[in-house]
Amino acid sequence: MYLGAVVKLVLNTHDLNNERAEEIRRVPLIYRDEQGNWRVFEEAVAVSGVMIKHWHFAYMVTLGLREGVPFCDYCKKLEAIRVPSETAGSELELITRCAGEDIHGFLRAKPSLRRESLVRFSWMLPLLNEEVVKTFGLPTPFRVLQHSRNVREIPEGAPEEVKQAQMPYPRSYAGGVYGFVSTLDLEHIGYSFTNAEAIGNDQRALRRKIAVQAYVPMLTGAIGSSLARALPVSDVLEVLVIVSDKPIPAPVHPIYPNYLDENLNLYNSVSKAMRANITIYLWSKEKKVKEKEEEQFKLLLAKSPAEAFADVVKSLEKE
Ligand SMILES: [Zn+2]
Repeated sequence: MYLGAVVKLVLNTHDLNNERAEEIRRVPLIYRDEQGNWRVFEEAVAVSGVMIKHWHFAYMVTLGLREGVPFCDYCKKLEAIRVPSETAGSELELITRCAGEDIHGFLRAKPSLRRESLVRFSWMLPLLNEEVVKTFGLPTPFRVLQHSRNVREIPEGAPEEVKQAQMPYPRSYAGGVYGFVSTLDLEHIGYSFTNAEAIGNDQRALRRKIAVQAYVPMLTGAIGSSLARALPVSDVLEVLVIVSDKPIPAPVHPIYPNYLDENLNLYNSVSKAMRANITIYLWSKEKKVKEKEEEQFKLLLAKSPAEAFADVVKSLEKE
């Protein structure tokens, strides 16, 4: 089974993309608006796919450790240093030992061995929102605020680094309507590409389940840096989960107008072209859409954002 996911949400006062000290990550963006015109912005606040992938990994490890899924010592510490050089073992041995290596991939320098990640993420990018652009001139407003640590007392003659503890420091906060997409190859979880062998079926089923469940804590935007003081103030707008028995292209990103209809058309045509059985679970706060059941293509409405994923977990359990 192959999965695609699309999440669209409002995020306010976040610092998710603070990937280096004092820097808020910004990228140039090209939009096509609903009239078909090109709109170009020199910078928009964005969160990298690397950042989002890390959080999928972290939630997956946390879930898996409760269910008896094995992880190596690095993955248990949520360190994505997968398979240092000179580590012995074939691909099958390495993925048997650690579900992190299995699902999120690894690169061992010596002896050379590479496994691609089975889960992939786009950048989380802001949508073109005319109200936001009219007010701020940018797709994402951001502000730099000064913080200071409250140290009760600094003793006289304290070392310089202690004296500096009360120095103000700047932090950037941003807001916007955001979206990201993801794909997950559930078919090859627990499968070694180098020798075409697989780990046991029960373990594969457990790993498939946690890989899907790991998306759920991400739905409200707990997927970046500075969560302790800038957990995003979020409102989930739309969630699409696509499952297919054959490989599928990545979903159309929500930054494009009519991305919902475009995705429905895309996967309907893919089901015909590939003779694939495709089901889309949709939850939307914004759009009324009717369920659809054709021979190989189904569009079903989920009752809540998390239930779109719960429905997939249920269908995995039936397999
Ligand atoms: Zn590992």
